[in-house]
Amino acid sequence: MEDHIKQALMEIVGSENFTDDLIELIPYSYDASDHDHRPEVAVWPIRTEQVSQILLLANAHRFPITPRGAGTGLSGGAVPACGGLMMDLCKMNRILEIRIADRQVIVEPGVVYADLENVLAPHGFFFPPDPSSSSVCTLGGNVATNAGGIRGAKYGTTRDYVLGLEVVLPNGQVIRTGSGCIKSASGFDLTRLFVGSEGTLGVITEIALKINPKPIETKTSLGSFSNLSDAGQSVIEIMQSGILPSVLELLDENTIHVLREQGRMDLPYVAAMILVETDGYTEAETSFQMDKVIEVLKKNHATEIRMGESKKEAEALWKIRKSIGSVAAQLRTHNVSEDVTVPLSKIVDLIKGISNILHHYGLPFVIFGHAGDGNLHPRIMYDRSDPDQVERLHKAVEEIFKLTCQLGGTLSGEHGIGLAKAPYMSLEHDPVRMDWMRAIKKLFDPHNILNPGKMALGN
Ligand SMILES: Cc1cc2nc3c(=O)[nH]c(=O)nc-3n(C[C@H](O)[C@H](O)[C@H](O)COP(=O)(O)OP(=O)(O)OC[C@H]3O[C@@H](n4cnc5c(N)ncnc54)[C@H](O)[C@@H]3O)c2cc1C
Repeated sequence: MEDHIKQALMEIVGSENFTDDLIELIPYSYDASDHDHRPEVAVWPIRTEQVSQILLLANAHRFPITPRGAGTGLSGGAVPACGGLMMDLCKMNRILEIRIADRQVIVEPGVVYADLENVLAPHGFFFPPDPSSSSVCTLGGNVATNAGGIRGAKYGTTRDYVLGLEVVLPNGQVIRTGSGCIKSASGFDLTRLFVGSEGTLGVITEIALKINPKPIETKTSLGSFSNLSDAGQSVIEIMQSGILPSVLELLDENTIHVLREQGRMDLPYVAAMILVETDGYTEAETSFQMDKVIEVLKKNHATEIRMGESKKEAEALWKIRKSIGSVAAQLRTHNVSEDVTVPLSKIVDLIKGISNILHHYGLPFVIFGHAGDGNLHPRIMYDRSDPDQVERLHKAVEEIFKLTCQLGGTLSGEHGIGLAKAPYMSLEHDPVRMDWMRAIKKLFDPHNILNPGKMALGN
């Protein structure tokens, strides 16, 4: 990047919010995925107007911009694939309005998920998506990736809560979408277009989010099965039993094995486990729901059902689920975590198919995830310094994506496409759909300055 452009950037954001120092740029070369590429400069804007001026400058001089929240993305969305400028939104982190009467909050994109949770808790409200990275990820990143979480089967994903946005478009224009109301049937839904657009269509600078009253009661149980099909059938039957559990997680045989052997947990030798939580506003409500769940687990031959009767017991059950990532990571130096998603009736086929693929390629793995919404996380462990393991990993991942699409599924339930899944987009989206996505990108960003190289939208 030429010196006069760097000078112009410093004039926009101030020299304290600009860097081209190699040491400071290195952390911006990667996110939580397998991908890396270094930017030439980084800026920390603090006002929408600055974002707009930077985009105008980028359009005039044709340099790429990668928006970034906390860099916890698992698909390489915040990796600056074409170099250029890294725009870190972390300093735009004010909670602007808490409007309990209107059931909404207005925030800047750099607000960390957990900080919003803490501010809402005294009001008895919450923002439900709850990604596992909630202590660090930003709300801007959540909106840009349409993040989801463990409570998705009941509460949906980020998209279901975004009422409106302020977005700076690639030509520097500032657009405000949505209506400030809980519902609106007025015009094209531009808000939804930006949610999940992964920083390719505009930079999100303000977000209006719907919030919910927070349930105060929960019940937790863990069912074990000697047969994966029984566990899969339980998932289907729980979801059609007339109640919606707040959590419905499935652990496959490998996951249980790794937790038992590597994590030294007291777990039975079974083919699958299901962790279920029900929530509500009264004890009677949560118990009624949990009774239905237990009925289904028993009907489908659960070999053991552990109940979290006390808070301590419930935490012990949750610990099993929450330990998977860290325990599995001990098996090899690196791992990738996919988030393939299928219709509920195909979960068992997906688990069996993925197991076959990964056994064939001889890589250690665990399969677990949010069975209640069909979203599974095959996590594959490997050593990046061994080219043979890397090649086997890539082949296995491609086969997993093919299988998922054959089962009527989607490449990503919550992590987004970014760089990691861009080569596989055409497995899921036919040429007509891909053409329209590329046409939309071209309409918003004719010079391709915003997050180029992502989502197979063209370089
Ligand atoms: C341990 C761990 C657990 C995780 N668990 C979950 C989970 O349960 N559910 C889930 O959905 N994800 C999960 N993730 C992935 C990740 O946390 C989410 O994708 C999250 O939404 C990313 O937020 P971020 O602030 O880190 O965004 P980044 O990684 O910085 O960016 C993600 C994408 O958003 C774009 N972006 C960021 N801010 C803006 C903005 N203001 N305007 C426009 N574009 C922007 C970036 O360009 C990039 O494409 C997990 C990650 C880790 C490491």
